[in-house]
Amino acid sequence: MLFDFDGPICRLFAGHLAEDVAKDLVEWLARQGLKGLLTEAERKHPDPMAVLHAVNLRHPGSDLVTELEERLTQQELKAVDSAMPTAFADPVIRTWSAVGARLAIATNNSARTATGYLAQRGLAGCFTPHVYGRTQDLEHLKPHPHCLNQALNAMGAAPSAALMIGDAPSDLYAAQRAGVPFLGYARNGDKEQELRKAGAKDVVGSLEPVLRVLRGQA
Ligand SMILES: [Mg+2]
Repeated sequence: MLFDFDGPICRLFAGHLAEDVAKDLVEWLARQGLKGLLTEAERKHPDPMAVLHAVNLRHPGSDLVTELEERLTQQELKAVDSAMPTAFADPVIRTWSAVGARLAIATNNSARTATGYLAQRGLAGCFTPHVYGRTQDLEHLKPHPHCLNQALNAMGAAPSAALMIGDAPSDLYAAQRAGVPFLGYARNGDKEQELRKAGAKDVVGSLEPVLRVLRGQA
């Protein structure tokens, strides 16, 4: 079982907070005298990952990218305490783990962030040591299947016998490229539209039916 982290397991940033983090990264760049590195639109982008990508595009693999990635990780770690658990995620994780499935996280967030959150919820033991997150090689972020392949290899699992639960088209594409079946989790209609437009066949609006199936009450 491969889980994306932000979405299926919790909401790391509520909407406005993600924007604040993106702004923080942009302001940090400006303090380094690098305001001109980003376009006007990139400077206003609400997604911190987009800022990181934009910088990586211009200075791939540079120290600047490393520093910016670390700054994003620090912001993610700060957000762990206020992360909103996704309904039914905790019991789904515990039940799946209890029935003997092997669980992994495959996320574009820092592995430290995911591990910190899981430890706080008492769930770390369900995943240890299979938490695969962002590295400084941003080319390997989903939709690249890198973190899924890492998880499959480490667990010795056949892709076709695994299942990826994710909430974004990039999760779907990464699963397709890894040969892993995909279940979309959409917390609202817009997210569901995005997933279906990307080609996701199976999308749930809640993890409750997943829990029911696991408990044999379907
Ligand atoms: Mg996600």
